[in-house]
Order: sequence, then structure tokens, then C-alpha cells
Amino acid sequence: MKKRGIVYLVGAGPGDPGLLTVKGQTLLRRADVVVYDHLVSPKLLKECPRSARLIYVGKESDRHTTHQQTINRLLVRHAKAGKTVIRLKGGDPFVFGRGGEEALALVKARVPFEVVPGVTSALAVPAYAGIPVTHRGLSSSFTVITGHEDPTKESSAIRWQSLAAAPDTLICLMGVGRLPGIVSQLIRHGRKPTTPCAVIEWGTYPAQRTVKATLKTMTAASQRAAIRPPAILIVGDVVTLRDQLNWFEQRPLAGCRILVTRAAEKAEALAERLESLGAQVVQLPAIELLPLQSNGVFKKAIAELPKTDWVFFTSPEGIGWFSQLVKPRRTNLRALLGCHIGAIGPKTAAAIEERGLHVDFVPRAFSQEGVLRDLPKRMLAGKRGVIFCAEESRDVLTQGLRRRGMRVAKVPIYRTATPPGFLKALRAVIREPFSFVTVTSASCVEHVVEGLRAAGKGEAFRRLPFASIGPVTSARVRAHGGRVIVEANPSTIERLIEAMVRYRAQA
Ligand code: SAH
Repeated sequence: MKKRGIVYLVGAGPGDPGLLTVKGQTLLRRADVVVYDHLVSPKLLKECPRSARLIYVGKESDRHTTHQQTINRLLVRHAKAGKTVIRLKGGDPFVFGRGGEEALALVKARVPFEVVPGVTSALAVPAYAGIPVTHRGLSSSFTVITGHEDPTKESSAIRWQSLAAAPDTLICLMGVGRLPGIVSQLIRHGRKPTTPCAVIEWGTYPAQRTVKATLKTMTAASQRAAIRPPAILIVGDVVTLRDQLNWFEQRPLAGCRILVTRAAEKAEALAERLESLGAQVVQLPAIELLPLQSNGVFKKAIAELPKTDWVFFTSPEGIGWFSQLVKPRRTNLRALLGCHIGAIGPKTAAAIEERGLHVDFVPRAFSQEGVLRDLPKRMLAGKRGVIFCAEESRDVLTQGLRRRGMRVAKVPIYRTATPPGFLKALRAVIREPFSFVTVTSASCVEHVVEGLRAAGKGEAFRRLPFASIGPVTSARVRAHGGRVIVEANPSTIERLIEAMVRYRAQA
């Protein structure tokens, strides 16, 4: 039987991707076709299957009738071809979103549809600015209007008279250019010029900005702050509550732009934590880790494992690749059972322990030097050891262990490479200002240096404010003439984040 097509009119929420509904997310994951608007967060599109066709229809003004007809026809055509079509609209589809018109067009074409309401910017944006739209004693109702219409137009559908007379909260979704007209209409129809109000730009996004003023001063204040669309105007006594309730713009890393250079698979978790603290994060993976093929050195090391006392791993990935590499040798992690296991830091230790092995040793400082400092010499002298590490790993640990009387082999099992597209992305972002550039390994630093040189921007390196994972990485930044403004101690991601928060608090 042919699959029956359907259109879901889904509200994407106001911007913060976390404000998509669970139902909206479930549907996005099943989409064949996604037709989306200008004010839909690009992050949401990552929810769609790779095979989904993404169609952007946001460029032209939404009120353009012919454009709206094109969208309607698009929805009908794909649904009739048996597709699951998600019509993804900013905020709530039925709040000034023309969702109603699209639904009517679907009814007319006999295409089945469902509506998934969204979190409307009209309520969420004030909430993120610390403004409750109702509040006992201050406001018991609110009105939402669109100011996209020309307020001086004779036949305006907006009843300024009654709006100005209403005592409570007025929320206006608007084109920024309309602000002076809206404010003066309200004053002209009797709203007190001293009424508190605020304009909120890019609400719920990390870049959210709010300008608070009175009706009389709002236009000038908004112009001074160079407020641009998208923005919302909110008018009423509730705006005064912001002085106490402004939570979002006061988060520890609010207003911070952070460039994250770690490998893509590790960057996401770091980016999420930084974003939850208010930062605006740009991900630019400067390295990728790639497993190496098994070779003579590796085979010899495996053959000698039964005689080996200590095995060291220098990254969380190492243990996974180790088990891949030993597979053709008809063994597995069992090969490590008789050995003591050392991990360079807690993440590496956790990755090993997740696989059911016991980690005997983690140094206090998470570096090769740290291992040498903390392992007592009597445990090393006369013993055999092997270090499974990156091809470009430093020789500090190998040589240090040898000096302490250990017979040790350095066995590369992975290498770091520059991810495809790195140079192009680096060129694009390097012009933007950053509060921090995180570097989480010395090879990360090297790749940034090389990338900048290749882009003819070598001198930019000195200007970057580096947030470094630890002393070895910092030393590499300084060796290239760079500036480290914060360093994690000990070398963990948690401490790196804390260091950035502390730095901001002092700034
Ligand atoms: N259906 C949408 C509104 C569409 S009209 C909803 O329910 O939110 C588009 C207007 O909404 C913009 O011009 C702007 O005034 C407002 N808007 C949408 N997202 C916004 C945001 N993140 N910050 C500020 N205003 C926003």
C-alpha cells in the first residue's frame, strides 16, 4: 500500500533549541521533508534524518501572498507524494505565523494535517528577559499584537484606542522600524509616557539583549543600542520586575563568545555545558583522532604483554582502538589482565573502567610529567612497560620511565589529523571577536597555528585569548607567541570551565 502523506504544522519555539516540544522533536526525527522558516534555530535541523529534504522558505517577506501560495503548494505536493512533511515555524504556528492559512490550504487540498503548538516568542522572550507577563498586583491580563503593520495606516486593524486604554501588559511582535510609530500611537491614545517598557532582541538565543526604558524614551534607547530584528516590545508595569528577575542575561558566561577547537566528537559536550552557562559557542574542530593500523611494533608489544608489568593509556579513545587492534590477534582486553594499568587522567581512567578493567594509577596532574612525579621509583625499576599513545605524543614519559630503570616501549595506536574543511571554517571565524579560544591539547594548538599561517593570518594567533587545558598546552601556546588567559588546574574540562567563569567574574 502506498504510504499516505501528512503535514505536521510544528512550532519550533522562539530560538533556544531546548524549547522545542517533545512531540515536535519526535516528528522531526521521522521527517521526509522539512519546510522551515527564517526564525527557526538551525540547531533544530540537526534532529532530522540525514535523508530528509530540507527546504528553506524564509527569505522573502512572510506577508508576500504569492510566496505564501508557493509554500502552500509545496506542502500539498510533497504530502500527496506520500511524504511525512514537517512545516517548521518559529514560535507557535498559530501565533502570527500564518499557520491557519496553511492549514486551510491543506483542508482544501484534502491533505491530512496535525498541529503541534510551540512555545511562542510572545511569552517566552519576556520570560527569558525576566519579565512575567502577568503578576499579582501589577497585571492580570496581556495582549499580543503584531506591529508588522504600518501603525499610521488609516485602515489599521489594530485598535490603538482600546490598546492604549487597557491597563495591563502589551506584547508587540514587530519590525524594529515600526517601533517609533507604535510607541507614539500608544502615547497619543492615552498610555502614560512614563509607562515602563522593554525591547528584547534575539530572545532566548545566547546573543539575547534587552533595552529597558519608558514609552517616551524607548525609541531613542533602542536606537542607541542599535537593536535589530528579531525583537519584541513589551509595555507595562511588569517590566519593572526585570530588575530582580533578570536571570538569563546574568548567567556566568552570558555575553561570552567562545571558540571551541577540540575534536568534534568531544566538542559537543563541552559546547553544551558552556551554552548552559550562557556562552555563545562556535565549534571549530582543529583536530580529529584517527586509529592507526596494526604494525610490527604493536604486534611485538601485544606478544610481550604477558611479561609486561605496566600499561599506560594517554587518552580515552586509546582503549577502544586498542581493543579493535587486538581483535585480529584473536584476543581482546583480556590481554591486559595481568598488567597494572595507568591512565593519564580521569576521563581516560573512566573509559578503561567502563570496559570492566581496573585502573591502578592516575596521576594528580594529568600529564606525562604528572605520571613521572607520582609513580614511586621502586615500582618501576627493573619492570617492563608499554605506552599506548598518539603518534605525535611527546617522549617525556618514555624517557622518564627509562631513566627510572623501566624497559618501556612507546606504541602509537592513533594519530591526530586536521579535519577536512578546517581551513575554510577557520578563515570564516577568525575575523570574529572571541572572549575565549579553548585549546585542549598541544596538537590542537599546532593545528590552529598551522591553519592560521596557511590562511595568511599567522599574526592573528597572538591576539587570541586562549583558555588552556593545562601547562603543556599553555607552554605550546606561549612558544608560538600566544597569550594564555586561563588555565585549568588540574587539567580537566570541568576545571577549564570553572577557570573561564572565574575570569569573567573578575573582569
Ligand atoms: N509564530 C511566531 C511569531 C512570528 S512573527 C511566535 O509564536 O513566536 C515574527 C516576529 O516574532 C518577529 O518579527 C519578532 O518580533 C518575534 N520574534 C520571534 N522570535 C523572536 C526572538 N527569538 N526574539 C525576539 N523576537 C522574536
